[in-house]
Amino acid sequence: MALKRERAKGVPVPGGDRLLQRIFTRLGCQGRPPHFIVEFYPYANLTHTVRFTRDTARVRLSDLLRNAPIEIVEAAAALLLARAYRRTPPAEAAECYRNFCRAPATLHRLADLRRRRCQPMLREADRYDLSAMFEQLNRRYFGGSLRRPQLGWSVRSWRVQMGAFDPALDRIVLNRRLDDEDVPRLAVEYVLYHEMLHVKHPGEMARCGLRVHSRAFRAEEKRFAHYDEARRWLERMR
Ligand SMILES: [Zn+2]
Repeated sequence: MALKRERAKGVPVPGGDRLLQRIFTRLGCQGRPPHFIVEFYPYANLTHTVRFTRDTARVRLSDLLRNAPIEIVEAAAALLLARAYRRTPPAEAAECYRNFCRAPATLHRLADLRRRRCQPMLREADRYDLSAMFEQLNRRYFGGSLRRPQLGWSVRSWRVQMGAFDPALDRIVLNRRLDDEDVPRLAVEYVLYHEMLHVKHPGEMARCGLRVHSRAFRAEEKRFAHYDEARRWLERMR
């Protein structure tokens, strides 16, 4: 999500055009290279984009790269161009960038960025009071020991995902589709319980946005009293 409150402004990357021209050639892209306008852009994530208009390509690299070593900037740009031109990205660029993404310093700065730039977009409840539900689940399954993050309903309906825990914002958001009288309480409780487990096990969050659940996590999830019924119900909703 990009900045919304104030109009976001990019900062030119010095020597950006030449850098991208070089990458264009190295990737073996065909034809005349476009004129590259390259800037660092204040995305709320480690996002990079390229947009083509006639003979110009506007490349926006996350401003998280602004103070990164030039190799990282180059690697990010190479991966971005490779994707745009359907080329195989150079292995060393992929590796270099992956290491940068995983570095604790990067993760910290990313979390900080998200805290500052993501707006709290939550909706009021129609039917289910998540705070009360959280307290109940906390007593029952966590001995009341789990600290409470911010809780809320998504502003828009999500098609597939039913809930999310964002550690950077310390926030659990549930799909607003669940806040409905046709949805049984146990299905909502199950989704909230699942996200509460993510609060308990922050290490379960995989790097770069992917989420994996360990076997231990899955086992703990099954402690939920109406596990099978809730899962069946949610399957039907999808
Ligand atoms: Zn999960």
